[in-house]
Amino acid sequence: MIRIRNLNKPKTMEEAWEIYSNKNKAKLIAGGAFLRLSTDLYIGEAVDLFDLNLNGIKETEDAFTVGAMTTLRQLETDSALNSWFDNYFAAALKNIVGVQLRNIATIGGTVYPRYGFSDLITALLALDVDLQFYKSGRISLEDYMEKGLLEKDILVEIIIKKNINNASFKMMRNSKGDYAILNCGVSCIHGKYRIAIGGRPGRAVLATDAMEILNAAEKIDEDIIGKACNAAAELAYGTNIFGSGQYRSAMSKVLLKRGIREVLGNDN
Ligand SMILES: Cc1cc2nc3c(=O)[nH]c(=O)nc-3n(C[C@H](O)[C@H](O)[C@H](O)COP(=O)(O)OP(=O)(O)OC[C@H]3O[C@@H](n4cnc5c(N)ncnc54)[C@H](O)[C@@H]3O)c2cc1C
Repeated sequence: MIRIRNLNKPKTMEEAWEIYSNKNKAKLIAGGAFLRLSTDLYIGEAVDLFDLNLNGIKETEDAFTVGAMTTLRQLETDSALNSWFDNYFAAALKNIVGVQLRNIATIGGTVYPRYGFSDLITALLALDVDLQFYKSGRISLEDYMEKGLLEKDILVEIIIKKNINNASFKMMRNSKGDYAILNCGVSCIHGKYRIAIGGRPGRAVLATDAMEILNAAEKIDEDIIGKACNAAAELAYGTNIFGSGQYRSAMSKVLLKRGIREVLGNDN
């Protein structure tokens, strides 16, 4: 159950920041989808982000800018975005629970907490993505995933750059409603491969050794793909109720091989 003492509905970012930064036990509320799972959560000052005009996807020449209150379903179904990325987002998001949840869950409520099980974060990390925070400014998703922020902040929007040739998202889950046991995003940016692996079950990370193997190769054949997959299998994988670390490590080779082949296939 969630108990809220004051529900604030600010109309400007400054107003939201004022309450969030100054009040003890203040909590930002996006869709409330994840927060509502709490068994006993007391929020002194709830800051509802709904009226801040943070919802929507804008396309420019270089990037798609996605407001923090945009829902997963909007990303999944946006025709311009999915046309540019060849349905990459539709593939990454379609297995998350059901349409109702994806109509509620937001980009901000997903990216800011850096959930380890997230399909969206893995998909974004495999692309060239920046985050715009209200106070901390603009930082890359890669840095944010590694280091987080020094102080709490409000995520305003994410910027997905339009510099990739193609990308592939693969995941493994036991049933549609489950969290992924493992997920993997592969992309090719200016001829350089980029691989993100998530659901390990820790936070998504870049598989840098595997990327180096692919990027150093003159020609990517099955031998090179095998070496890259073996390197990715050496990442740290943990155990939870969905699968063991050993199983995840073995699965990483399968998902990554499929992802690389798909990206290569589209390249040729
Ligand atoms: C039952 C269930 C199953 C799920 N399964 C999956 C799954 O299989 N794969 C997957 O990828 N995801 C899954 N999710 C997660 C889902 O995709 C969203 O990530 C999550 O529900 C976020 O919800 P929300 O946007 O309503 O955020 P909220 O619940 O409102 O907030 C979540 C957290 O983010 C903070 N926050 C929200 N917006 C901002 C912002 N703009 N700036 C800073 N902080 C902010 C809030 O203060 C809170 O701490 C699941 C969620 C649920 C409820």
